[in-house]
Amino acid sequence: MQAEAAGTDAGRAEARPLIVLDKVVKRYGTHTVLSGIDLEVHAGNVMAIIGPSGSGKSTLLRCINYLEPPSSGTIMLDGIRLEAGRATSRKDLALLRRSVGMVFQSFNLFPHMSVLRNVSLAQERVAGRSRKEADERSMQLLSRVGLADKAHQYPLRCSGGQQQRVAIARALALDPKVMLFDEPTSSLDPELGLEVLAVMRELADDGMTMIVVTHEMRFAENVSDTVLVMADGIIVEQGPSAEVMRNPRQERTKRFLRAVN
Ligand code: ADP
Ligand code: MG
Repeated sequence: MQAEAAGTDAGRAEARPLIVLDKVVKRYGTHTVLSGIDLEVHAGNVMAIIGPSGSGKSTLLRCINYLEPPSSGTIMLDGIRLEAGRATSRKDLALLRRSVGMVFQSFNLFPHMSVLRNVSLAQERVAGRSRKEADERSMQLLSRVGLADKAHQYPLRCSGGQQQRVAIARALALDPKVMLFDEPTSSLDPELGLEVLAVMRELADDGMTMIVVTHEMRFAENVSDTVLVMADGIIVEQGPSAEVMRNPRQERTKRFLRAVN
C-alpha cells in the first residue's frame, strides 16, 4: 500500500508542470488585457508566444513573475503559489522572482559598469555571493554566450547583439528555473538577432525551461516545443509547434501567420 502510494507520488512529481497559470485575468481600469489565461509549462520545455501587437503577450510575461500582479487568478511556479487578491508573502514573492530570469527587448545594462560588473552585481546583492564567486560565475556565463573577451568593456562599446547576450548571461547568473524572453531580437539588425537566437537555441538544447514572446516565426517553428497564439487577451490556439505553425486550426492564427510571413 505504502509502496504503491509512493509510486503514484513519484509519477505525479514527474508529470507536475513547472509553471501553471489558472484563469489569470489582468485589467487596467476597465480595460481587460488578459481574459482568463490557463497555461502549463513543463520543465525543459520551450514555449513560444506569438500574436498581434497589443494582444497581451508582454503583460502575460510580466504577470508570470509578478512584475504585474494579476487582477485575479493563480500562478504556480515549482511549488510557490501566488493567488491574486490574497496577501502575498514577501518570501514567496522573492522566491518567485529569483526563480524567473527575464530578458527584455531593451537590454537595460548599466552603462557605467563593465560587462563583468553588470553580470556580477545582482549575484552579490540578491544571491549573497562574494565578489570573487560572482565574478567566477560571470566569466563562465560570459564564455557560454561567447563574450569572455568583452568582460572588461563597457556595454556601449558592444554591439546590440553582444549587449543582449550580456543580458542573457546576467539573467542566467541567478540560476533561474525558467527564462522569460520578451521579443529579445526585435530591436536588433537581423544578423545580430541571429547570434542572440543561436545562444537561445543552445539554452533550449541544454534543457532550460523557456517562454519566449517572439516575432521570429522560424524560432517558433524550429526551436520551441509548443506555440501559443494570443489575440485580444485570450489564447486562440496552442499546441506542438510544428502543428500550430504548419497546420493551424483557428482562422485567427491563419490570418496572423499570413500577415507575418
Ligand atoms: P503585446 O505585448 O502583445 O503587444 P501588451 O501586453 O504590451 O501587448 O499590451 C496589451 C494591452 O494592454 C494593450 O492594449 C496595452 O495598451 C495595454 N497595456 C499594457 N500595459 C499597460 C499599462 N501599464 N496600463 C494600461 N494599459 C496597458
Ligand atoms: Mg509586447
